[in-house]
Amino acid sequence: MNVHDSERIAGLLEDAGYVAATGDLADVVVFNTCAVRENADNRLYGNLGHLLPVKKLHPGMQIAVGGCLAQKDQHTIVDRAPWVDVVFGTHNVGSLPTLLERARVAQESQVELLEALEVFPSTLPTRRESAYRAWVSISVGCNNTCTFCIVPSLRGTERDRRPGDILREIEALVADGVMEITLLGQNVNSYGVEFGDRLAFGKLLRACGEIDGLERVRFTSPHPRDFTDDVIDAMAETANVMPSLHMPLQSGSDRVLKAMRRSYRADKYLGIIDRVRAAMPDAAITTDVIVGFPGETDDDFERTLDVVRAARFAGAFTFQYSKRPGTPAAEMPDQVPPAVVAERYQRLVDLVEDVAWSENKHYDGQQVEVLVAEGEGRKDGATHRLSGRARDNRLVHLAACDARPGDLVDAVVTYAAPHHLVADRIIGVRRTRGGDAHQLRTQTPATTGVPLGMPSLRPA
Ligand code: SF4
Repeated sequence: MNVHDSERIAGLLEDAGYVAATGDLADVVVFNTCAVRENADNRLYGNLGHLLPVKKLHPGMQIAVGGCLAQKDQHTIVDRAPWVDVVFGTHNVGSLPTLLERARVAQESQVELLEALEVFPSTLPTRRESAYRAWVSISVGCNNTCTFCIVPSLRGTERDRRPGDILREIEALVADGVMEITLLGQNVNSYGVEFGDRLAFGKLLRACGEIDGLERVRFTSPHPRDFTDDVIDAMAETANVMPSLHMPLQSGSDRVLKAMRRSYRADKYLGIIDRVRAAMPDAAITTDVIVGFPGETDDDFERTLDVVRAARFAGAFTFQYSKRPGTPAAEMPDQVPPAVVAERYQRLVDLVEDVAWSENKHYDGQQVEVLVAEGEGRKDGATHRLSGRARDNRLVHLAACDARPGDLVDAVVTYAAPHHLVADRIIGVRRTRGGDAHQLRTQTPATTGVPLGMPSLRPA
């Protein structure tokens, strides 16, 4: 969600006449922050501290802070770092250029945060990181109340875009060379609740299947509570919806799930996975898991390990629980000691890696279709590899070939590692419009290299 918002911020600033800084000192530095985990706070204030001497040397420089942390901390940011010029929230990304101008003219910090969303970020201009891949927001906010999560209080209740708007945006993206889209929502399975159609998400997937030239459709994130069979059917029956599913588990213990206010239980979670695999035997399933939620016992943690084994995850984002002030879980008794959390976390990471590796080994000798990614690829000794994603979203490193980012490569897997596959036998390369779009974009000068490695723009 933040990457998507960052693309909008960059697009808005370019539209307002700024250009990405190309190595010399930036005139504007924008931090788009996340508040989900505690260390994001520490990193923001650390980075702001590093920028103070830079700003002293370059007095015209402006610093803006947006995103969830800005929404949460509001005036605290300018109290702690008075050299910040603009603070803007999650609901008013579109006001950033105006706020920068206002701060410049008034010579004082501007703090503007709205309580509710007025304009969907998708209606704002964008500067996509990729020529052939794009995020498409279908909803923002969340109606759930998970006790560890700060998102609903910062992003608000769920707002759903209408299907016609979404499909028009996707068609325009495809006309621009995009081949793969990821539908974005805090809880995509409840999409439609705002306009009274509980089957809306499955219908949206099927409608994506009708768009000519759209090769790959993904989505994130589903919520197990709202996951219905019509979505599984739509995934299985729509050729361009990819056989991959990232579905947060959070805990395998029913007792902990209840305390988290996640209204599904381990059995229901595993039941969804069984039905997904019955409909799409090759589906790769990934997840999110939190370790050390308040009150989690050794037995609860063992239940989580049981589900990880049973679900045969292709990968997992694993998190050590961190207290977020303002959430119910932060006030719960029985916070788990950090040393216990760290020990459980390591056991979980080891198990996830074992399971993912044994799942990846099934691919040894199999043919995969890889959409080549932008970026450096990977160096293996003297071999420079291209990298990309298989249909099930597995990371694949390819033998050197003449494919361009955005092209499709059919290749045979020759080695399986825990986190990726290596495919050294290239069967064929299919030139695509995504590759053409990438090539067109890279004919214009690259735009990176600002101080401190931060996303940054300066006035033209
Ligand atoms: S579903 Fe739960 S974890 Fe996800 S955004 Fe909503 S409240 Fe947060």
